[in-house]
Amino acid sequence: MIIKIANLSLGRHVFDFTEKVEDIELNEPFFGEINTKVILNKLSDQLIAEVSSVVSAEFECDRCTCKFENQLTSSYQMIYLMRNDKTESDDINVTYINRETDKISLRNDVREFAILSIPMKKLCKEDCKGLCPRCGIDLNHDECKCQKEEINPVWLPLIENKDKLNNKKRNR
Ligand SMILES: [Zn+2]
Ligand SMILES: [Zn+2]
Repeated sequence: MIIKIANLSLGRHVFDFTEKVEDIELNEPFFGEINTKVILNKLSDQLIAEVSSVVSAEFECDRCTCKFENQLTSSYQMIYLMRNDKTESDDINVTYINRETDKISLRNDVREFAILSIPMKKLCKEDCKGLCPRCGIDLNHDECKCQKEEINPVWLPLIENKDKLNNKKRNR
C-alpha cells in the first residue's frame, strides 16, 4: 500500500490495492484480503487522498453467540501537506510531508480506520431474538416454554400494581 509520488503528475490518480489482512497487521476479527481504493489528487503543495476499504470480519453475535461474517467498509480522507519543518500534525486527517518525500504508505491509516469500523453492537441480524436467559435455547430456531412459567416473585408486586393502575384507568 505504497504510492510513489515523486514522479506523479499533477491531477487525479486512482489506485487499487488488495492485500492479505495479516500483511498490514490486521488480526482477528479480520480475515482474508482487504481491498482498498484510493483516489489521489496531486496539487502543487499537497496531495489529497480519498481512501475506502472493504474487508471481511467474523464476529460472535451479542445476543445469540452464533458466529457470523460481515463486510466492513471504512473510508477516510487524508491530506498530505508539504512542509519544510518537521512538526507533526495534530489533525488526524492531515499528514505533513516534505518536498523530498518520494512515497507515501497508507498501511497504518488503512489499518486504523478498519479497526474503527468494527461495530459496537455485533448482531447476526437486526432482529436476532437471542438466547432464552433461562434454558439457553436459541430463540431464532426454537421456542421454549420458559416465559409462560412462573415469574420471578421479586417482580410480582410491580406487576400487580401495574394491573391495578390499568384497571383504574379503564374504570374511569
Ligand atoms: Zn444473533
Ligand atoms: Zn427457555
